[in-house]
Amino acid sequence: MTTRPLDLIDVDALHSEEELAIRGVVRRVVDDHVRPNVVEWYEQGQVPVRDLALEFAKVGLLGMHLHGYGCAGASAVAYGLACLELEAGDSGVRSLVSVQGSLAMYAIWKFGSDEQKDEWLPRMAAGEAIGCFGLTEPDHGSDPASMKTRARRDGDDWVLDGGKMWITNAPVADVGVIWARTEEGISGFAVPMDTPGVTAREVHHKLSLRASCTGEIVLDGVRLPASAQLPLARGLKAPLSCLTEARYGIVWGALGAARDSLHTALDYAGSREQFGRPIAGFQLTQAKLADAAVELQKGYLLALHLGRRADRGELRPEQVSVGKLNNVREALAIARQCRTILGANGISAEYPVMRHAANLETVLTYEGTSEIHQLVIGQKLTGIAAFG
Ligand SMILES: Cc1cc2nc3c(=O)[nH]c(=O)nc-3n(C[C@H](O)[C@H](O)[C@H](O)COP(=O)(O)OP(=O)(O)OC[C@H]3O[C@@H](n4cnc5c(N)ncnc54)[C@H](O)[C@@H]3O)c2cc1C
Repeated sequence: MTTRPLDLIDVDALHSEEELAIRGVVRRVVDDHVRPNVVEWYEQGQVPVRDLALEFAKVGLLGMHLHGYGCAGASAVAYGLACLELEAGDSGVRSLVSVQGSLAMYAIWKFGSDEQKDEWLPRMAAGEAIGCFGLTEPDHGSDPASMKTRARRDGDDWVLDGGKMWITNAPVADVGVIWARTEEGISGFAVPMDTPGVTAREVHHKLSLRASCTGEIVLDGVRLPASAQLPLARGLKAPLSCLTEARYGIVWGALGAARDSLHTALDYAGSREQFGRPIAGFQLTQAKLADAAVELQKGYLLALHLGRRADRGELRPEQVSVGKLNNVREALAIARQCRTILGANGISAEYPVMRHAANLETVLTYEGTSEIHQLVIGQKLTGIAAFG
């Protein structure tokens, strides 16, 4: 009998029936709609964002942790479990849900006017409208405070000029939450993506997160009514608070990619024979499996601790940095180590492990690189900001 890694310390016992039921629903959606197709999407570098969004909306996955406007109003822990199951399918698919719910919808939900919320949130929750979140620019990634994109007043209107890069879902989005510098500081705008002057081009040749739609946005004299500005978003703190939401989902999501890699390696090691016995019987293989299982369980306990804090309204941004830094770094190490257990088969798309490892390279970089999270933690520990 083999024991699954998370069964070792029986983490299920830490969850309510409701949480486990939600996890089961998401796992089924991933089994039915992601796993059978994801290799093809990955190889082609194309993912049916709209079809998936409609499917995910049926089980309340879009804006899942938000209240009102057709959103499910689930707990932070339930949302985390959903991210884990989605990313066990593919990090790109989890990114679709994170960007829609935690970045685009959250920004409108938290900082938008009643009219903006009524216009966008119900359709976004239903998967009928796709959102993107444009903060990163070609020349400004880790340092968004230096962004070049400008919004200037022209009468009652706003006129936006500039460009955003590496924006998930941009080529298919109906609305972009675009961050721009104004005379009063950084501000957010809900920009219908069919506004004249907005162009979104797909980024090709990615070697990671291929089952995700990534784009570049050019803003050329984009004229918007005053009502497009998110009235409550003041300064860089606003987009950073959205990133904290999305990073929280990644704390859980990365564990999904790690769990799927470890499950695959366990199964493979049990059936693959060399030197007349299963490779699972070699001590060196068992050391790899044991170390991976230990890190997976530690990461899970960390995610759950942060999730419970979030549900009590106690989660602080630097705590999310601890989770994102550790869980993505360890998930990547697990995926790489599991890849070695599969030998040559480890580099084949027939198994998900190399795909997870390649995806996690993106996850390590986006939503604050590992280095930036180290600096956030370092600042908290020392009281000295080493960046900015
Ligand atoms: C597939 C994909 C999807 C993405 N989706 C989105 C999206 O939807 N919306 C969005 O706005 N952005 C998105 N991003 C962008 C992502 O958030 C940025 O790539 C990330 O913030 C890093 O910025 P950069 O790539 O410009 O790297 P840089 O900021 O140029 O960093 C390069 C290296 O320098 C290091 N570095 C930078 N500053 C410091 C410092 N002070 N001290 C030490 N080291 C430092 C970094 O850690 C990194 O290792 C996405 C990226 C990818 C790859």
